[in-house]
Amino acid sequence: MAEKNPELAVQSGAVDTHCHLFLMEVEPAVAVETAKASGVERLICIGVDVETSRRSLEIADSFEGVFATAGVHPHDAHGFDPAASARIEELLHDPRVVAVGECGLDWFRMLSPREDQIRVFRTHIALSNETGKPVVVHIRDAWTDAMRILDEGSAERVVIHCFSGDAALARECAARGYWTSFAGNVTYPKNEHLRAAAAAVPPDRLLVETDSPFLAPQKLRGRANAPQNVLLTLGALAEVRGTRVRDLVEATANNARKAFQGLR
Ligand SMILES: [Zn+2]
Repeated sequence: MAEKNPELAVQSGAVDTHCHLFLMEVEPAVAVETAKASGVERLICIGVDVETSRRSLEIADSFEGVFATAGVHPHDAHGFDPAASARIEELLHDPRVVAVGECGLDWFRMLSPREDQIRVFRTHIALSNETGKPVVVHIRDAWTDAMRILDEGSAERVVIHCFSGDAALARECAARGYWTSFAGNVTYPKNEHLRAAAAAVPPDRLLVETDSPFLAPQKLRGRANAPQNVLLTLGALAEVRGTRVRDLVEATANNARKAFQGLR
């Protein structure tokens, strides 16, 4: 059984902008119900390849408050051919598909060749600009290249997922008009730079996510993460920003509605 949040009171209206329900051990119905019982009423299920993008939309169609994205992760970029591109484009026509991605660059794990990652990232940026749906970007050890490619593609709506930079980079993203999304790793003791970054993001650019089943917040570290734990991340963010959790829940939910076209 999924567990309730260990310490935070129910906060109605919270949004988990990034989870992979199809990777969780519990059934999507259980994950969604448990999240809603904690007040996490909106979830964006993020596709990482053609099949999981299709599956994300299927889950979104099955549960009120759940939305999907369509895209190909840099780890899977090597398999991205014209047929895959056409399939992603087709999924993007659905109103419950609220973003393009996740996509981006991962020079750390390098599970796909560099050229493939760049090619696929560029295609996703173009799809984002065409559809008006934001591009959800994964960046690992690739900031300079990712920023350059976003510039070259004139990316209009950008969500930096699981932000991993410092305060200077957070300010740089804000200056470009990007949304910056923080995950459970902002609660890890060693990640002082992430807390400084979180304090530097303007209130209208801040988003929160769990990246479930990955990156469980400190109090649950080592366990599978779940969407309701976004409340622990909200708690940590409220502390570093010197604001009330309640206000931050509201602000980040408003930001999510502005960032993700069609999220209601
Ligand atoms: Zn993810």
